[in-house]
Amino acid sequence: MYHHSGSVAQQAAGSAAGVLDPQAEAMLFQRCAWCGTATYHRLLCPVCQGSELRTERSQGVGTIRHSTVVHRNTPAARNVSLIEMAEGFVVRGRVMGPPIGIHGGDRVRLSTAKDPVRGEPVFQLVDEPFRAWT
Ligand SMILES: [Zn+2]
Repeated sequence: MYHHSGSVAQQAAGSAAGVLDPQAEAMLFQRCAWCGTATYHRLLCPVCQGSELRTERSQGVGTIRHSTVVHRNTPAARNVSLIEMAEGFVVRGRVMGPPIGIHGGDRVRLSTAKDPVRGEPVFQLVDEPFRAWT
């Protein structure tokens, strides 16, 4: 018995992969037009519930707030970190490098705004010549 599954129709349902994604080069965030609070991937301002959010481009520098190593569902341990960006919003992403070298308070710089696999931002540690006083 011949049975064709309708796989042809599903091919058109994919997202626009292959198109150059501007978000891969710069991290964009939203700033509330009412109170100035910077947010990331939110529809409403978390402070004043304002819906008038303007998109701005981040400098891409920030500080690690918290870092957790995840072993689940991955061949190698990877870290999930909360990064507080210079503009004041917090994003979840990955910091490159050995987990033992990643600490809260470390300064990071955006490497890729959108990881092609997971779609999350990837950061790299900023070499700090003045580590002694941090
Ligand atoms: Zn607001």
